[in-house]
Amino acid sequence: MRVHVINTGTELLLGHVLNTHLTFIARELFPLGLRVERQSTVPDGAAIRDAMAAALKEADVVFVTGGLGPTTDDVTREAAAELFSLTLHQDSKVAEAIKLRLRTRGFPMTDRILRQADVPEGAEVLPNANGTAPGLYLKRNTARRTRHLFLLPGPPRELEPMFRRSVLPMLVDINKGAVAPQVRTFRIACVGESVVEEAVGPQLLALPGIELGYCARPGEVDVRVIGSAAVLDEADKIIKEAFAQQLYTTGDEDLEEVVVRLLAQRKHTLAVAESCTGGALASRITDVPGASAVFLAGFVTYANEAKAEMLRVTRTTISTQGAVSEAVARQMAEGAIARAGSDYALATTGIAGPSGGSDEKPVGTVFIAVASASGETQVHRRRFQTDRSSFKQLVTETALELLRERLVAEEGESAAA
Ligand code: ATP
Repeated sequence: MRVHVINTGTELLLGHVLNTHLTFIARELFPLGLRVERQSTVPDGAAIRDAMAAALKEADVVFVTGGLGPTTDDVTREAAAELFSLTLHQDSKVAEAIKLRLRTRGFPMTDRILRQADVPEGAEVLPNANGTAPGLYLKRNTARRTRHLFLLPGPPRELEPMFRRSVLPMLVDINKGAVAPQVRTFRIACVGESVVEEAVGPQLLALPGIELGYCARPGEVDVRVIGSAAVLDEADKIIKEAFAQQLYTTGDEDLEEVVVRLLAQRKHTLAVAESCTGGALASRITDVPGASAVFLAGFVTYANEAKAEMLRVTRTTISTQGAVSEAVARQMAEGAIARAGSDYALATTGIAGPSGGSDEKPVGTVFIAVASASGETQVHRRRFQTDRSSFKQLVTETALELLRERLVAEEGESAAA
């Protein structure tokens, strides 16, 4: 089945509205064994008809989003009727539903609003639980094939429930008998994309029928594998062998979610002491629902004085070693544990740039400490030469990954003991 999506709306092409429909539809289709082959975005007006005509020449299933409303630029319904040479008639049930909706909200009825009850002859109405314009489904049989056209409303709060409630069951039926491929995403932290590809790419590509993709973000790489269950299992073995330590999930969790989950499972708590990340680490941790079970406190100690006052970093260490140093990172993490009474602490101190570097500690140098109340403090030196925002992202990613690896290693040790 070839699937095309047409997103209509001048606002999308002006960059005023982010096109979320494509992402939504593509994700919903995948488990059914369907994939969007092509997508186009067209402005309101006549271009919609041309895009629909072009898509219907090639695709079996076409989704058109937007342009079903009451205003003059909403022409999707008329364009579809014209294309299929169908007349529009007012659907009495839809008209009643619209009238009732307006009455209960105290809005006056107009002819324009009632246009939304116009349905092309033979079209199936897809009820809209959250708005006035219903969706529409049209089917066209030719000697060679059947084409399916879905017209869906623009507002996501209308389209998404309608898609799940009405469109998905119809697609299951249309696509009967198709075998849905499986997808697994392997998320690997703190390894470069090319290193990942060099390590596992050739072996993975040798698997029969595999579809392989890489997606790099600051500090992490996703390896996406699509294929049969057997291919996914083989890929699992290959990737785990190469990146046993850095593979943090094959599920949907972000790194901070994994860290919070691991801490919560052991009933352990965390505090963070941040200089160069300015609270970004605490922010990522507190983005996770349920973080309050594990996260006690974050200290943003940007000035030397704050490090000394809040975390008991010694002034002599700062003056002899510098605020960006192994010793200060260590004292910050240990100070955070002492002040917050947590089981673990992370600390970051570094030179984000663009100025402030030296030969010994060039811009991008950062020290990240991982401390535990019952074990030793480990301090790691890294260098990330990038803009300030990516620097923060890379440092927080590394800090979370170092803590995650430590928690996993300690779990292994206690299981072995
Ligand atoms: P309405 O009855 O609101 O006019 P409609 O079906 O005619 O609905 P549009 O007018 O095209 O739809 O879009 C309505 C609103 O829906 C837009 O202002 C926009 O905020 C949102 N929207 C439209 N298309 C998209 C899209 N592809 N992704 C995200 N939001 C969208």
